[in-house]
Amino acid sequence: MNPSRRNFIQKSMLTVSGLSLAQRSLLANIFVDDLPYKMTTLRSNVGYFTERGGTIGWMISNNGIVVVDTQFPDQSKHLIEAIKKQSDREIDLLINTHHHGDHSGGNIAFKGMTKVLLAHENSKKNQMRVAQANGKEDTQLYPDTTFTSEWSQQIDEEMITLRYFGPAHTDGDSITHFENANVVHMGDLIFNRRFPYIDKSAGASIENWIQVLERTQKIFDTDTIFIFGHAGDGFDVIGNLGDIKAKQNYLSKLLDTVSTEIQAGRSEEEIMKIQSIKGADEWKGNGIERNLSAAYQELTSD
Ligand SMILES: [Zn+2]
Ligand SMILES: [Zn+2]
Repeated sequence: MNPSRRNFIQKSMLTVSGLSLAQRSLLANIFVDDLPYKMTTLRSNVGYFTERGGTIGWMISNNGIVVVDTQFPDQSKHLIEAIKKQSDREIDLLINTHHHGDHSGGNIAFKGMTKVLLAHENSKKNQMRVAQANGKEDTQLYPDTTFTSEWSQQIDEEMITLRYFGPAHTDGDSITHFENANVVHMGDLIFNRRFPYIDKSAGASIENWIQVLERTQKIFDTDTIFIFGHAGDGFDVIGNLGDIKAKQNYLSKLLDTVSTEIQAGRSEEEIMKIQSIKGADEWKGNGIERNLSAAYQELTSD
């Protein structure tokens, strides 16, 4: 809970005894609406959850429940509470788009509650490697099912398909398609108008990331609703093909910019001083130097 909310509740408690019944029921409604998270339906029974960490995707129907990513344990507990209000079912399928803690850290909250926990095989390896390195093996629930290039299963009336197009944000990023609803969870393949994290320690590749987004644009269509892992200030975690193209453009302009500087004989130190990427200046936020450094590393490693 954030301090201002705690303050608000404490103040409300102090005055509650002096209120009429009608005022008290109004207060109760305010409490219900003041949830720390937001559940939004996109199309049919598919939607998304936001609180803290990478955006979670979900499908909740009478005969099947699917969850894509888990943020952190407290956030997953909130999501589970919200699901339980609609259904007593066990979770049929839990997916991790990739291993990062803001997408898989909440897995533990689903322990004993999910039939299948699925991720790309590299994503599972990364989860295990990072948990071991941080001494967090007790608190990380690993995927029990993995795939290499494509995986599909029908759950209730929805066909769920996962695809892997090679290294990008990490070396284990899945693209999850709810085919009938035509909703796609992109994980951290899209930081919408915000400098992305490019995790070279987990096999990221900017060059292949551009290809991954090329294939994404070929497979999906103008009707597809995309869910993004993160977005910059004032931008949405939901978008369309145009946002995929814009992100692809950012990555190619990033490589072009750094490549031009290298060819002009600039040092790594000088390149790190670049403040924005020409031709993709909508991208903002913290971390441009980490993007420049990843591009420099990639362009000089061969
Ligand atoms: Zn993330
Ligand atoms: Zn990530």
